Amino acid sequence: MKNFNRNTEQWQQLDRDHHIHPFTDPAQLNAKGVRVITRAEGSYIWDSEGNKILDGMAGLWCVNVGYGRSELIEAANRQMKELPYYNSFFQTSNQPQIELGRLLSGVTPEGFDHFFYSSSGSEANDTIVRLVRHYWEIKGQPSRKAIISRHNAYHGSTLAATSLGGMKYMHDMGGSLLPGFEHINQPHWYLEGGDLSEEEFGLARARELEDKINELGAENVSAFIGEPIQGAGGVIVPPDSYWPEIQRICTEYDILLVADEVICGFGRTGNWFGSETMGIKPDIMTLAKGLSSGYLPISAVALHQRVAEVLTAGGEINHGYTYSGHPVACAVAIANINFIRDNGLVEMVRDTTGPYLREGLRQLAERHRLIGEVRGRGLIYAIQLVRDKDEKMLFSADDEVGTKCRDHCFENNLIMRAVDQSMVMSPPLTISKGEIDELLEKLERCLDLTASELGLS
Ligand SMILES: *Cc1c(COP(=O)(O)O)cnc(C)c1O
Repeated sequence: MKNFNRNTEQWQQLDRDHHIHPFTDPAQLNAKGVRVITRAEGSYIWDSEGNKILDGMAGLWCVNVGYGRSELIEAANRQMKELPYYNSFFQTSNQPQIELGRLLSGVTPEGFDHFFYSSSGSEANDTIVRLVRHYWEIKGQPSRKAIISRHNAYHGSTLAATSLGGMKYMHDMGGSLLPGFEHINQPHWYLEGGDLSEEEFGLARARELEDKINELGAENVSAFIGEPIQGAGGVIVPPDSYWPEIQRICTEYDILLVADEVICGFGRTGNWFGSETMGIKPDIMTLAKGLSSGYLPISAVALHQRVAEVLTAGGEINHGYTYSGHPVACAVAIANINFIRDNGLVEMVRDTTGPYLREGLRQLAERHRLIGEVRGRGLIYAIQLVRDKDEKMLFSADDEVGTKCRDHCFENNLIMRAVDQSMVMSPPLTISKGEIDELLEKLERCLDLTASELGLS
């Protein structure tokens, strides 16, 4: 892109003139100007000013194999030449799509052999909303429509995915909450546990599902959906008692259990899927992000045999996207899965880099006054920022502690994301121990800067 021959200010002005950014206050952003990212390699990105930045978020929780992998790039290039596009509607398929299904049935948990493709996590979750209702219609229980989710869950940004999710500020925009979606509280023990032990709290929060089912009548409920570990909500790892109880309730009331694996999938938590890490046996899984490491947009709905056998015998499925099973995206996903497997990334996260980051964060939390809790698994973590860790006292909203800390990270060439009063990280699964050291050093410096800005050092 160098041949465009524009300087940073010119790029920023054009961006102001023509681009509306997602999840951004345009006026606020335009006042300071965007950072223009120009290239990337491994765990680093570069901006138009030549700054080299450590990407502690793997893009948006998705670049699992890191940047610049020739295997993925060449797979796309080859497939573009061979067959750049063909649809799957007209009794036709393509080789990458077929091969991807075979590969996915190998890496997903036992019983997941059928996949429906689309281009984003949101579209996959929209598909799930339609398919679970269709499933119950085929089973002769058409009143099973309601889907239960959690407050502060993130399931995407289309209208159905927004409703499925639990982000109030998203529901509030334009009254976006559709009927037929119900929400229970999230299992966030540190913030909401009160006097309950972790174990008790996990059970109590899971039993809200049972209460909700009873309130609605099980004959009106189709499914429960949850991220094994809530990502965008603040990397919320439920207590050990939570998922087994959710599982028990879903089984008892015959409710489909959907695991949104968009972030947790493809090695992020130290297993291929977050469901394995958290001991969940879902009926349906949402796959996106790490499915192609973000190199091209692709997602999949993974159906367990017990769901697939109903849907495949239930007549026409009146649903699909122009880009369902896009051959180039599928070719990249194949190369991505092969890369993860052939390089032992999942084992590396589980046995080496994951424990290394965890220990580094634990030590940092011990010596740093701002860290109240470290949460996470594998290579997805959050640190909870607190005004007083002994008193477990949070900051006030006016302190804007997350934003302050994030801005210091930004200025110090480390990408971390703030979720309210937590800082979250989700680096490429290829990150080295040396790069983890760099991440921790920069993080500590930014925490110090945040503390002194708040008059706490
Ligand atoms: C990102 C995300 C989605 C939405 O995926 P898009 O590709 O942005 O539509 C859905 N669920 C979870 C858990 C996510 O993190």
